[in-house]
Amino acid sequence: MDINCPNCKEEVSQVEIDCENCGFPLSGTDKEKSIFIGRQISNKAKIGDAKESQAKAKKILYVIGALQLANAFLVYGQTKSFDDAIFYFVLAVLFGVFAYLSPKKPILFLSLALALLLGYYAFLYFIDPELIFRGILWKIVFVSFLVYGIWNANEERELKKKHSFLNKD
Ligand SMILES: [Zn+2]
Repeated sequence: MDINCPNCKEEVSQVEIDCENCGFPLSGTDKEKSIFIGRQISNKAKIGDAKESQAKAKKILYVIGALQLANAFLVYGQTKSFDDAIFYFVLAVLFGVFAYLSPKKPILFLSLALALLLGYYAFLYFIDPELIFRGILWKIVFVSFLVYGIWNANEERELKKKHSFLNKD
């Protein structure tokens, strides 16, 4: 005879010790069951936090993109160099695209954005070492948000790998 798992509501055979779908200890003690539920709630909260930090990283990428777009106009206004303006325009578009795609594959696109940002800073340093110190606090904030977003996306992936049931929502 089959019963429904009280945790995930999937149909499970009554002889099962743990639910095949979510791992709920069907034949465990009340204490084991409440520990399982508690852990599940904390995992869901962790995933919620991870999603929030990825959303912040996405916003930061849009800000970086907007700044590069402003740079494109500024540089063109100052130097009338079309090439320089195009350079910043391409950077702006790339950051915008990575931001837009980041919810689909956060680790990949946040890492690409971080690599591009670090590459850009390295390029600035190469042009003129003093440029790197201009707005250094913002640079640190941008890099930290991206690193934190990647770290959280990785945590989320590990949690979901361990508890495939959490993938459902
Ligand atoms: Zn279950």
